[in-house]
Formats: sequence, structure tokens, C-alpha cells
Amino acid sequence: MNLLLGDTIAAIATAPGEAGLAVLRVSGPDALTLADRVFAPAGAADAPGGAGRLARAPSHTLHHGWAVWPGSGGRANERDSGGVGEPGIEAGERLDEVVVALFRAPRSYTREDVVELSCHGGARSAHRLLAALLAAGARLARPGEFTLRAFLNGRIDLAEAEAVADLIHAATDAAHRLALSQLGGALSRELAGVRERLADAVAEVEARVDFAEDVGGIEVPAHVVAAIAEVEDELSRLLDGAAWARAVREGVRVPIVGRPNVGKSSLFNALVGEERSIVTALPGTTRDRVSEAIELDGVRVTLSDTAGLRESAGPVETIGIERARAALAASPLALWVVDGSAALHSEDRAIAGAFAGKPVLVAINKADRSAAFDADAVLGVLEGAAPPTVRVSALTGAGIPALKGELSRLLGGGSNGTRLGAATGNPRHTEALGRGRASLGRARDAAQQGMPGEIVALELREALAAVGEVTGDAVGEDILARIFSRFCVGK
Ligand code: GDP
Repeated sequence: MNLLLGDTIAAIATAPGEAGLAVLRVSGPDALTLADRVFAPAGAADAPGGAGRLARAPSHTLHHGWAVWPGSGGRANERDSGGVGEPGIEAGERLDEVVVALFRAPRSYTREDVVELSCHGGARSAHRLLAALLAAGARLARPGEFTLRAFLNGRIDLAEAEAVADLIHAATDAAHRLALSQLGGALSRELAGVRERLADAVAEVEARVDFAEDVGGIEVPAHVVAAIAEVEDELSRLLDGAAWARAVREGVRVPIVGRPNVGKSSLFNALVGEERSIVTALPGTTRDRVSEAIELDGVRVTLSDTAGLRESAGPVETIGIERARAALAASPLALWVVDGSAALHSEDRAIAGAFAGKPVLVAINKADRSAAFDADAVLGVLEGAAPPTVRVSALTGAGIPALKGELSRLLGGGSNGTRLGAATGNPRHTEALGRGRASLGRARDAAQQGMPGEIVALELREALAAVGEVTGDAVGEDILARIFSRFCVGK
């Protein structure tokens, strides 16, 4: 990715489709002069270039008028226009009525001069206006390029930039709240504190190494060891909330598995709360996965009703069984349904074998009938693992709230499920923080074993770099490219 700043970029910032308004954004050193070339203030002659009105206007002002096709003299940029150029159009032709908002550097989203043009929504207005901006000399922005500029110009750090994408992708209120708190700098502030303490520790250890006559024999003072342990704890606390935060941020898929006729479809319906999958008394009739998302303490849980996991049957059912196995492999957790009113079956045992160490929640269904076995019998089938079991009746709804509660608890939530604060659910962050914590553990061990101060300093520096990756103090262009490719154009 070419991170070159310095040119002026433009894009449509709103989603396509019929809507009241659409917004275009322009950012860069020529944003104001370029916007002037496509803007005719209301009441002025309809010529492009409203006599440099925008270039002279103060920051944070609104201007009402007409978007017009620019006159000649602009750097035609048809190559970048993505086929939206308009042959045969006259300079000065009106494209739409607009309100233009001006934000001068550095008080703008990107810290560059920014112009936002609000026009009418719908299929054509914003596209024609974008074509005009490109014809006037702007370059079409790449996905996330406005936010990338905000990061490169130091207005936000990388964790905050990623929060912008999370905010846009948030599917639940909890995910939205988590992204907002990260955007507000909750995680960044916490990590700034961590980095400061690590930098102090590195400085102290390195200073001692430098001044030691007998290099390799310095002792790391007890207060530095204590500081390292404290930071380690702080990282552990952040990482503890990570599984839940990730579930909040991304949602989780939970397949409902079990042998035919135990009540998977019925339970799926009871959990989802409406008639979705076909319930039938014939074994093996749920041929495919049927998915539906529910929200549990702010986590979007996509339940999928699977065909019975068993080795048998005709080709259609075999495909269903394969999909169920695939769903199991791709999920952090499975909901295993057994029929509590009939003795456990060899097929139940076969399914238990397919879990292969995956966490499961066991629903002992048909609790409206008399129980054929004890809950412990299920645990016996699972060889060593002791997953939670809940007796439910998909038919009467008994036990469904308890099942949901247990599911939420297993995902890391529960009654304090909204204790997100500075937690991060971003795998890039958790990987880096985990690496940082491991380095700190090694630094502490080395210090306690009286190993050379250089080794302690080296580990501390690695921890510092790992934490710095989260906020973007130390990341390469390839990582930036990956992060910003998640964004939409115009953000
Ligand atoms: P699946 O093959 O595992 O998806 O099972 P279904 O949901 O299709 O249910 C199989 C049969 O068991 C149907 O006749 C359901 O009405 C019945 N069934 C499901 N859940 C319950 C329950 O909680 N209690 C009773 N008594 N019957 C149930």
C-alpha cells in the first residue's frame, strides 16, 4: 500500500440506495479550491467556481448552493473515476442542490482540509457529483483512506481507527458500545499507562547495566520486578475480558447437534422463538442447516439446526451430516441435545466422540416426560469432560431461560456481561498483548533468577513493542493495509 499523503481524495461516504441525503467527502491540501470548482453558491451566477467562496470561508461553516460540472483547467481524472465520467456535459451544468460543510486543517476528521457535500440520495446525484470532483482533480479514495489519514496524521491511534470499522460493523448494541468506548480511547489510555511504566522499567534496568562495572552482573531492583508483575497483571485483566469482547464484537456460531428425533429442531424453535425449522416425527428429516441469530447479553449468537450427526442414510442426509461436522469445527461451542426420556443410545455416544474436546453445553430434552437417566450418565459418555447440563422441554418451554443463561455464561458473559470497559475483542490486539505478557513473564523470571540485566531489558523491550503494535506505534505497512482493507470506501 502506498501511504502517500499530499494528494486530495474524494469518495461517497454514504451507502448507495434511495435515501433523503447522500454525503461526499473530500480531503487533502486542495480540498477547498477543488470544491470551489464544482460549487455555485445560491444566488450567485451559475458558473462553476463561486469566485473562490469556499477557499476564503472560515472553518466550520456551511454553504448552500448548487453542485455544478467544473470548467476546464481542472486535472481531468477520468482514469480514476471508475466509469462515472460524463462525456458531453457542459461546464456549469447543475448536478444537484447541495449544502457544503468546511473543516479546515487541523480541526477535521483527517487533520487535513476537509469538505463534505450533502446532496440528495438516490442512484445518480452522488455519483454525478463524485464524477465532477474527480474531473476537477480529486483522486478516488481507497477503502478506509480518510481514517488512515487521521491515523497517519496523529489524530487517532490505530486501536481508535479500528474502532471506527467496528462501530460501522456492529450488529448489537453491546458491540456498538464496545466500539464506542474503544473509539473514545478507553483501551488506548490503558495501554498508554502500560507503556509508560514499561519504558520506565527499561530505562532503569538499562541505566544500571550501563553503569555497572561488572557487566552482566547487575541486580534488577525489587521495585522494578514488582512493577513488571503489576503490568503483567494488567495485561492479564485485559486478556481475561477478550473472549467475551470478541464474542460481542464478532458474534458466535453455535451448532445444535444430536442424533435424529431428540428435539433439535424443536429446541432451535424454542430458542429462536418462532417456527423456523420443520419439526417432524420422522428421524433424519432436518436435511440442512437452518440458521437464525438471537441476542444473548449483547452477543449475537447464530444458532444452526443441523441434520443428525450420524453415519448413515442416503446422499442428501450425508451432505447434511458433513455440514454439521463442518459447523462443529468452525464454532467455539456446541449445543448437544439428548432425549432425556429415552435411554442414551449408541448414536449419542458416537456424536460425543465427534466433539473432540470442543466445549459443549448439554440440553437434556423432553423434561416434560419422566427422566430415563441421570444427568451424570451424560457426563460418563463424554469421557473426562464435564460440561454443564440443563434439563429442558422444547415442547413446554421449561428450562429454556436457564439454557440461555448457561450459554451466555459459557461464552464468557453472565450477569456482569457488560463489564467491557477497555476490553478488546480484536484478535490482532489479543495476540499482541498475549505476546507482551509472555515477554514480561520471561523478564520477571530472568530478574528473579539474577540473570544478566541485558536479558531482562531485552524482554522488556519486546513487551513494549508488542503493546505498541496495538496502538500503532510500531506497525508495518502490511499490517496497516490489512486493517484498512476492512473499511468501506468513504470512511
Ligand atoms: P430433531 O430430529 O432432533 O430435530 O427432532 P424434532 O425437533 O424434529 O423432534 C422430534 C420429535 O420429538 C417431534 O415429534 C417433537 O414434537 C418431539 N419433541 C421435541 N421436543 C420435545 C419435548 O421437549 N418434549 C416432548 N414430549 N416431545 C418433544
